[in-house]
Formats: sequence, structure tokens, C-alpha cells
Amino acid sequence: MNNFLFIKTIKQAGIIIKRALITGITGQDGVYLAQFLLKKGYKVFGTYRRLSTPNFWRLHYLNIFDKVTLIPADIRDSRSISEALIKSNPEEVYHLSAQSYVGVSFDQPIQTGDITGFGVVRLLEEIKKFNDKIRFYQASSSEMYGHEQSPIKNEVTPFKPSSPYAVAKLYAYWMVNLYREAYGIHATNGILFNHESPLRGLEFVTRRVSNGVAKIWLGLAKELKLGNLNAKRDWGYAPEYVEGMWKMLQQKKPDDYVLATNESHSIKELVVEACKVAGIPISKIKTSKDHFRPFDVQHLQGDYSKARKKIGWKPKTKFKKLVKMMVEEDISRWERWLKGEYFFWDAATSGEDSQIIAKKIHQKNK
Ligand code: NAP
Repeated sequence: MNNFLFIKTIKQAGIIIKRALITGITGQDGVYLAQFLLKKGYKVFGTYRRLSTPNFWRLHYLNIFDKVTLIPADIRDSRSISEALIKSNPEEVYHLSAQSYVGVSFDQPIQTGDITGFGVVRLLEEIKKFNDKIRFYQASSSEMYGHEQSPIKNEVTPFKPSSPYAVAKLYAYWMVNLYREAYGIHATNGILFNHESPLRGLEFVTRRVSNGVAKIWLGLAKELKLGNLNAKRDWGYAPEYVEGMWKMLQQKKPDDYVLATNESHSIKELVVEACKVAGIPISKIKTSKDHFRPFDVQHLQGDYSKARKKIGWKPKTKFKKLVKMMVEEDISRWERWLKGEYFFWDAATSGEDSQIIAKKIHQKNK
């Protein structure tokens, strides 16, 4: 049955099944959002990159790999985006795919601009042609505030981006505003402050710390090297933030919203808390100039009162609970893996960590 007939049949039966397309469904937010929308009864489609080894571990980890429809698409290629829209025929599009790591954006500024900035416009152009009634969510970022000096940021705080990533996100932010004003598209920016989970990518500092501390605790590593420990961030729990994305798209009118916890903690506090959870001395954590960024944002803290008032969203998980959850999950994964249990997981296949595992297994088999 084609899409049109499928929708017609369901409508005749009085059943409304909403269809959502998530770009970047393989990322941290992508999988939590997919899980959330499935629970709400949506038919969920998601784009992934056609790589030699597609990044499906998170979908398996949450046990939703078989429950979503995956469509290969590269956000640098308008044709594949158009095909994804035709195949999914969605009412809602959540645009999460991006080169999302600030550090990498200094090494790859052009690629970051193309994916994180222009990618959004390619998608909006295709939406405008395919169905301008689609509701569109853009994953904007607190990094757009950069070196702006106000201690607490909200939707009217000026932006002063301080990395190629943040500049690309700001370009996208304004294009979303433009498509809303000029073409009447229901396009919303969620300006999200950092949100973490055990499914965070290994390159991000929270997961570097939770995974690093777990390895030290198990005797798999001697130390962990980090960069600037003084930078402060507003860290929330990712599954709560994806619910906020959905709430934004249920509003009659599109708008821009900050999601944050309105608390900030330094990377040093993160390290102290993580070491406490694992019971290892803080002296095992070292700093290295190699891990410093050319230009670092010192302090980010967000005021989510507009989201609380207008869409009824507020964060629940506190910083200490979040750190505990991440450290305990990484310790448990390493323990299970070393006992020979097999499951989908990123650390087991990443360069440095896969070597640790190979060495351990080799020692065990001797
Ligand atoms: P993430 O885990 O890094 O996921 C990024 C996603 O983008 C992955 O699915 C990745 O695919 C995909 N992607 C990368 N390049 C692509 C390309 N050329 N074409 C198509 N897809 C591509 O990021 P996240 O934490 O889930 O964040 C989701 C979005 O929110 C991102 O746009 C991020 O910048 C933004 N954001 C995140 C935070 C946060 O704290 N997490 C805060 C503010 C804003 P692969 O799996 O194949 O790599």
C-alpha cells in the first residue's frame, strides 16, 4: 500500500497515527526521541549515514532498532533528503543531524559549516517544496551564546559564537527564523543547553570522564587526560530534553525556546563527583595542553522559564544523579564486556578502547 492510501485508510478508520522523521536518529538525542515518539504511538522514520559500519549501537541499546524505519540520507545531499521526505511523508521533522562536536569544528570548519549550517537550509528547501505544512524542529545550541557576558542566558540574550560549530548553528538558527517569517513554515528553534546520558558520544567531556573513570577503577587505564577544567556548563539529562522538543512542535505557533537546568557546574566539579562515585583518587585525572581548545567558552547557564510557562517543560534530573548514572553505567558495561558478554556499545569498538579490550582478552586466554 502506498503512503497516500495508507493514510487514507487509517483516517477512514478514525485512527490518527502521526509520522515523524528524525534526521540523525543514530545520535544520542535521535534514539531517545525515537523511543519517546514510539511510546506516543508515532510511526518513526530516521535518517542515517550510509557508512561502511553504520552507527546503530544506540538503537540496539534501547531495543528499538526494529521498531523504526531507517532511511539512508546525507544532509549534504539534497536528493537524499528529498527521498527521505517522500518515503516518510511526515507531519513533524526533527532535524538533529549535525557535526555536533565543538572541538572537531576547529579542525574541520568547512565541513562543519556545510553539515551543521547549510544542511538545515537544504532540508528546509526540500520541506518548502514537498509540504510546507510540516512542523520543523531545529536543534539549536547554547554554544551560540559563546562569549556573551550575561551570567544567565535566555531567548532574548544576544549571541556571540566562539567556535566554527557555534557560528554554523547560528546561521542555521537565523535561517529557521527566516523560513518561518518569509514562507510561513512552522519552524522552531530549540536552544538546548548541554544534555547528557550514558548514550553520549565518547568525544564529549561528560562521557570521556565517565568512561575514563570506569577504566581506571577496573585497572584498565592508569589516568585520564583532560583540557580546561574551569569551564562551566549547564548539564541536563537527555531523555527529558527530547520531550521538550516534542512539546515545542505541539504548539499552534512556532517559536524559539531555551531548555536548560539553570544550574552550572565546572568540569572540575564533574571530575570530583565522578571520582567519588567510582571511589578513585582525583590525582588520577591530569590536564594536558593537547586537550585545550583554541578558544573556549567559560560559562554557560540557561534560563528555561519561557519553556516552563508556555510548553510546561522543566528539567528533573540533578547534576549529581546524572554523573552517578553515567559512571555506574560505564563501569557495568566494562565489567560485563570483560566477562565475555556481547552487546552493542561504542567504547568496545573505538580505537583506544578496542585496544584495551583486545589486550585484556589476550591476557585472559594465555
Ligand atoms: P550526536 O550524538 O553527535 O548525533 C549527531 C547525529 O548527526 C548522528 O546521528 C550523526 O550520524 C548525524 N550526522 C553527522 N553528520 C551527518 C551528515 N553529514 N549527514 C547526516 N547525518 C549526519 O549529537 P546529539 O547529542 O544527539 O545532538 C543532536 C543535535 O542537537 C545536534 O545537532 C547537536 O548539535 C544539537 N545539540 C546537542 C546538544 C547536546 O548537549 N547533546 C546541545 C545543543 C544542541 P552518525 O551516527 O553516523 O555519526
